[in-house]
Amino acid sequence: MNGLLSELKKVESTTMSNYNHNLIKIHRNYSFEELACVLGAHKNTVANWVKDGLPCLKEQRPFLILGTDARVFLKAQRVGKKQKCKPDELFCMRCKAPTKPAENFVEYTALSATKGRLTGFCVRCECVVNKFIGSESLERYAATFDLTKPTGLRHINDSNNPL
Ligand SMILES: [Zn+2]
Repeated sequence: MNGLLSELKKVESTTMSNYNHNLIKIHRNYSFEELACVLGAHKNTVANWVKDGLPCLKEQRPFLILGTDARVFLKAQRVGKKQKCKPDELFCMRCKAPTKPAENFVEYTALSATKGRLTGFCVRCECVVNKFIGSESLERYAATFDLTKPTGLRHINDSNNPL
């Protein structure tokens, strides 16, 4: 039982730990193993970061991670939870940071009478970013963003075609 507990603690401490991004040299490229070694992390942890959006060069093997990218990524991870979106930002799960939507373009989807979702594309990684808002703040966002509301979404308009 004790062994299991300490095993669990270990898992916790590795998932929660803050890796020291200052150990990474900006002008170097790292394979997953090398980066893991420098930070005292597991190779799988590095693979997970890549899944989470850490950029990596996949043209050849081993895949290489730029030192600058790794630093930026780990720094962002560290402060990720404290970062709040400004009114003109949406939160990117991939970058783990607030981001501006590409072209300042967002789409509004009503989810209910009072709630909806803004969807755009992260200006950095181009993945989809969402923000859930109350419909009462829609006008405010319309002033901030280039906002569109999709039309004709499975909306059967009887009056349109009486035949
Ligand atoms: Zn992003």
